[in-house]
Amino acid sequence: MANILQNTLVHFDRAAGILRNEVDTDLLDSLRLPKERIELTLMPMMPEGKKRFYRAFIVRHTVALGPSKGGIRMTPTVTLDDITGLAMEMTWKCALIGVPFGGGKSGVVADPEGMAPLDKEILVRCFARNSVLLIGPQTYVPAPDMGTGERDMGYIKDTLSYSIGYATTQGCYVTGKPILLGGIPGRREATGYGVSVCVIEALKKLKKEPAGTTVIVQGYGNVGSNTARALDRQGLKIIGVSDKYGAVYKPEGINLDALDRYLESSNTVKDFPGATPIDGRELLEMPCDVLIPAAAADQITAENAPRLKTSIVAEGANSPTSPEADEMLVKRGVFIIPDILCNAGGVFVSYLEYTQETQQEQMTIEEVNARLTRRMTEKFWQILELSEQRKFSMRTAAMHRAVSTVYEALLARGRCP
Ligand code: NAD
Repeated sequence: MANILQNTLVHFDRAAGILRNEVDTDLLDSLRLPKERIELTLMPMMPEGKKRFYRAFIVRHTVALGPSKGGIRMTPTVTLDDITGLAMEMTWKCALIGVPFGGGKSGVVADPEGMAPLDKEILVRCFARNSVLLIGPQTYVPAPDMGTGERDMGYIKDTLSYSIGYATTQGCYVTGKPILLGGIPGRREATGYGVSVCVIEALKKLKKEPAGTTVIVQGYGNVGSNTARALDRQGLKIIGVSDKYGAVYKPEGINLDALDRYLESSNTVKDFPGATPIDGRELLEMPCDVLIPAAAADQITAENAPRLKTSIVAEGANSPTSPEADEMLVKRGVFIIPDILCNAGGVFVSYLEYTQETQQEQMTIEEVNARLTRRMTEKFWQILELSEQRKFSMRTAAMHRAVSTVYEALLARGRCP
């Protein structure tokens, strides 16, 4: 069972251990704990008068750099500890990519796949209604994560506007909304696009050409499919993809247009006729140049890490590699692009959406993608330079930079009141 919080704390402790000699340790240690953990019991009135209750969580890790920012995860197994770990990861991600947000996250314990669309809408609206005082441009600004998407963010904006009594909320209460409701072009694709920028820069560092570079993507959801698309456009070859039902493999390269057409009438890649079915765990171990875990946490562990045959691991998902596996891969010379850098494109574009809505501006997809590419590239090379200078792994360098930034923000705010 994935332990996101434990893994996140191991990464934090490693970075904090390096900083410990240079800083006030009380202040540093305060970052091990979240600012606020809230548990909600939701009792939505379902169609036909059915009443069920659901658990939900909102965690704000820090507000040192700004309001808490982070997605809403809806899965049947999500826990308060998972959400705490993910909120903490958001703190580091926002600090690293340079946006004025602290870390936050929320979770709803429910299976969106087994739910009728109207039931899901009612549940999402119930979550928003119960969070009216917890969500806002100055406190916590949610976004999509596993199991939630653009449509749900539209429902959240609508429910909050209705509850507050304005036709539309003033300022940005939620990001990843439909464009018509104040969303920004390119947000849906942003995380995957950002992952692709990191992969291209890593190939430059390793002096490899994109053309023909082979890629395996675990999790063909929002992040995975958009990463695959962006890399395919740059000439890389997607040779394997998976979802939670299964996986397919084709060493000559998967035709993504055909796959996407197939997915219009199927809810899984598993039986895609253009490729060979393969077990999802086995797919991770097939030879490739770039492996992109873009599904769940703890997919690369001490158990399977020795069998991976890849030069680059680009972490599209949050916390997909256990700390032990991370060490093993680094020792073997695998180039790991850590989650807080690799998948930070989503929160960067959320920040653009936040500023666009606050200032009542409009940005084009060209502006969004140009700013995203510039920011991801700049941060990739800054972290690489730090890792080379201080002989850190990419993850330790990223964590070191992020934790130092948040620590500096706490110092700058002062210790009173
Ligand atoms: P999603 O729900 O759109 O897609 C998840 C995909 O992973 C689905 O295809 C699902 O079937 C598959 N999956 C789940 N478990 C699997 C398993 N064990 N093996 C193979 N496939 C599996 O979710 P998403 O938004 O794409 O998020 C994926 C990951 O990326 C999560 O870790 C999330 O926290 C992280 N992330 C998402 C964003 C974003 O903007 N959506 C931003 C940063 C990080």
